[in-house]
Amino acid sequence: MKKQYLLIFVCAGLLAIFNSCQQGASQKSADYKALIVTGQNNHNWKASSPILKQLLEQTGLFTADIVKTPEKGGDMNTFNPDFAKYNVVVIDYNGDSWSDKTKSAFVEYVNNGGGVVIYHGANNPFPEWKEFNLMCGLGGWGNRSEKDGPYVYFKNDSMIIDTTAGRGGSHAKRHEFEVKMRNTEHPITKGLPVRWRHGNDELYSQLRGPGKNMEILATAYADTTGGGTGRDEPMLMTITYGKGRIFHTALGHADEGGGPALECVGFIATFQRGTEWAATGNVTQKIPYDFPNAAGVSLRTGFIELTLEDDLAKIGQYDITKSTKYFTNLQSRIRNEAKTPEDFQKFEKLLIKVLESKDATDEGKKLILGELSWMGSDLCIPSVKELAKNAQLKDAAEFALARLQ
Ligand code: ZN
Repeated sequence: MKKQYLLIFVCAGLLAIFNSCQQGASQKSADYKALIVTGQNNHNWKASSPILKQLLEQTGLFTADIVKTPEKGGDMNTFNPDFAKYNVVVIDYNGDSWSDKTKSAFVEYVNNGGGVVIYHGANNPFPEWKEFNLMCGLGGWGNRSEKDGPYVYFKNDSMIIDTTAGRGGSHAKRHEFEVKMRNTEHPITKGLPVRWRHGNDELYSQLRGPGKNMEILATAYADTTGGGTGRDEPMLMTITYGKGRIFHTALGHADEGGGPALECVGFIATFQRGTEWAATGNVTQKIPYDFPNAAGVSLRTGFIELTLEDDLAKIGQYDITKSTKYFTNLQSRIRNEAKTPEDFQKFEKLLIKVLESKDATDEGKKLILGELSWMGSDLCIPSVKELAKNAQLKDAAEFALARLQ
């Protein structure tokens, strides 16, 4: 065997081993256990808690249990979850104080390295519980004021610690807003767009608290024209307490059925990534193809991530008077996932199927022709030529051919 062939052979072997290792890493098993604590809230916990469970289990990393406290005014001595059985505890709770025994068990769990996620209204309860407030970093409402710690926010790209007297917690009328990353190197935020538009939500403002061992990963500007504070308010935070890691998201006000604040892929992905980080110190999840950017909100109806097959089927029935969502999804997938010529060809073969389909509409085929004009190869040319014979598609097909040939 000639030397250069031997080298190619060895390289191919190494590549095969590398590929099989990668495949091994992507085969997920639900290794981690999450506990969602709920049962009392001024928010719609009956909607949000099952959604949070669904989102965690979708990652393939978690199995999630939901535990409910007694109703308001009930005997809190009966609420004694075994926190130590779990890798992460997600707090979707705003209600009566827990028993001293349960509080101590929770503090011990976090001290020993247990993960915690503070979700939206969960930064409201327990104003009197010092350890809980250290875990949250910042909180609001519950008569919080300067006695509970400073306001923390960003102004002109610097973090401000503001000891001014005043209430803790407010929000203007719900609206869509932009979230701005303040650290894109943290495992939770690495690879995410620096700015992205969030679905209609409450922009939590004037949060205040001890803010110890806390890092603000993302903020949102509370516009004064909408009645906001004129500050860049913290939206995503990490805190350490003892050996425990805490992820705090101020996002996600729940309506009946969830609504846009929860359907926002920005909320979904940061919640899923933040929970993995709190549980393990690491994030292994891929950035989803439909993560929003500064140009617009991206919502997942029913919290289901559409498959490529769903998108292609919908594009085939494309109606210009309706949404271009499925086509935008397809474009995002190609831009995010296709790296090698082989990847592009995989997509190209699927697009050719739509071109050749008898059921697909001309409008759908026009979109596909536009896409193939930049990413197609010789492979699609016969099908495109065939469509050039169709009066409705002649222009689009000839445009594609001119760029392909
Ligand atoms: Zn809310």
